[in-house]
Amino acid sequence: MWSVPVPIPGNPLGYTLVYALESPRGPVLVDAGWNHPDAWEALRGGLGMLGIDVADVHGVVVTHFHPDHAGLAGQVREVSGAWIAMHEADAALVTLIHGLDEEAHRDFQAEMLRRAGAGGDDARVPASARPVPPARPDRTLRDGDLVDLPGRELRAIHTPGHTPGHLCLQLGDRLFTGDHVLPDITPHVGIYPYDRTDVDPLGDFLMSLEKVTSLGPLTALPAHEWIFPDVAARAAEIRHHHEERLHTLAAQLTAHGEPLTIWEIAAMMTWNRAWDDLSPMLRGMAAGEAAAHLRTLEARGAIRRVSGVDPVRFQALDS
Ligand SMILES: [Zn+2]
Repeated sequence: MWSVPVPIPGNPLGYTLVYALESPRGPVLVDAGWNHPDAWEALRGGLGMLGIDVADVHGVVVTHFHPDHAGLAGQVREVSGAWIAMHEADAALVTLIHGLDEEAHRDFQAEMLRRAGAGGDDARVPASARPVPPARPDRTLRDGDLVDLPGRELRAIHTPGHTPGHLCLQLGDRLFTGDHVLPDITPHVGIYPYDRTDVDPLGDFLMSLEKVTSLGPLTALPAHEWIFPDVAARAAEIRHHHEERLHTLAAQLTAHGEPLTIWEIAAMMTWNRAWDDLSPMLRGMAAGEAAAHLRTLEARGAIRRVSGVDPVRFQALDS
C-alpha cells in the first residue's frame, strides 16, 4: 500500500493523499485528487515512482464526491479503463450536479441566502457558483459492501455527515477515513439549503463518528494531513468538540431570548477567524455549519424554529 500527495492548487489544505493498493488485477486507488493539470502530473509522477503506470489502474474508489477526492477519477478512467465506485447517495448527488442549469442554480443560491437573512455582499451569488461535476461512477457501494480489490477485503463503511454518501474503507486494522476523521482539523458539515428540515447532517455525522469509534483503535489513513494511530480516540474527540459547540449555541440562544436569523446566529458563533474577516464565500460555509448545528438542536427538541417568518428564525424553547 502506498500514498501519493496530490496538490490542491490554491487551497490551504495543500494536498489530497491518494492511496494505491496492489492487487493481481492492477492497483486500486482510494480517491484520486483535484482535477488540475499539476495535480494530474503529481499523481502520474508519484505513482510512477512507485512503479505504477496509471494505465494499469484497476479501479478508483472515492470516499466522497468532492472535487479534491473525485476530481481526477475521470481522467484515470480515461487512460486505464478503471471502474469508479462511490456510495449511492453521493452518486445521486453527482447525477444532480450534472443536471444543474447555471441559472437555476444561481436562483437556488440567492433564495437560500435570502431566507437565511444574508444581506449586502453576503447575499450576492458569485458568477461561477455552479460546481464542476465529477465523473459519474460505474459502480455504487452501500454500507458493508466489499470493494472490488482482488485478493483482499476492503470494506465500505457508510459514514454520512460531511457528505450524505461519505465512505470510510476498512482494510484489516487500517481505516481509510477520507475527510470523516482527520488528525488535526474537522471536516465541514453543513446543510443546504440552510433551512431544510428533512435531513440532519450533523446528527448523521455524530452517529458516523460513533460508528467509527466502535471499530476500535484502527490506524487512520486520512485524505488530508497525516496518517495517525487510534481512529477511535480521534473520532471521540471530534464528537466531543461538536457536542460542546451545540451546548454553547443552545446557551447563546437562551441568553439572547429573541428569535434570530441563521446569519445572525452564524455571526454570533466562534470561527477560526473573526466573522468580519471572513469572505462572503466563507461566511456562506459558516452559515451552513451554523444551520447544521441549529437543525440538530431542533431535532433533539432543544430549540425551536419560529413558524411563518421570513427569513427563518430560531429561538430557545423556553423564551
Ligand atoms: Zn470533502
